[in-house]
Amino acid sequence: MAIDGPAGAGKSTLAQAVAEHLGVERLDTGAMYRAVAWSALRQGVDVADAEAVAVLARHTTIEVGGRVVVDGEDATLAIRSAAVDAAVSAVAANAAVRAELVARQRAWVAERGRGVVEGRDIGTVVLPDADLKIYLTAAAETRARRRARDRADGPSVEAVHDDLVRRDRLDSTRLASPLPLPEDVAADAKVIDSTGKSSRAVLEEVLACL
Ligand code: C5P
Repeated sequence: MAIDGPAGAGKSTLAQAVAEHLGVERLDTGAMYRAVAWSALRQGVDVADAEAVAVLARHTTIEVGGRVVVDGEDATLAIRSAAVDAAVSAVAANAAVRAELVARQRAWVAERGRGVVEGRDIGTVVLPDADLKIYLTAAAETRARRRARDRADGPSVEAVHDDLVRRDRLDSTRLASPLPLPEDVAADAKVIDSTGKSSRAVLEEVLACL
């Protein structure tokens, strides 16, 4: 199953709930782009240097499960920092990085033969033959409130809102696999707006599609 949508729409909560319900694993592909951005920041690699970041991505081991382990180091919390938020869109716009991570994402599914995969380009690029494609969205204010609540460093809702709007713009206007707008999503995707809905209600809407 593919779950796509902008930041803070509730993809991770939904993916976790659906995966538990079906007894399958889930893959958070955003965590993989974050892992590369975190590794670049730590090693002093300029995220605007496309060639250097591509080389870094090819040589970085990333395990995404309950914890996110990057080159053997637990980066679960570190990849959710404001510095990574600021750097990740440049990393995700890098076509060579995308090629590397998309190949790993497809291999993850091929190994298991099933699973719930969440991201921005899963239904359109990574798994165009997914059994079910969900495009989850929500009003920017709702998404900012949820993200601010989840962040350990206690940022203001306004600061998170501005960052989300900035990232949405970068993610949807980049040349390599842009995040589609709700009206342009894969024709076979079900669009769900989670504004004002509980996570339980969203889960039930998705399960009704199975
Ligand atoms: O989902 P999350 O906000 O953690 O994703 C972080 C960033 O990773 C997004 O802003 C986007 O730039 C990138 N991303 C992507 N393609 C995916 C998943 C995430 O470009 N499949």
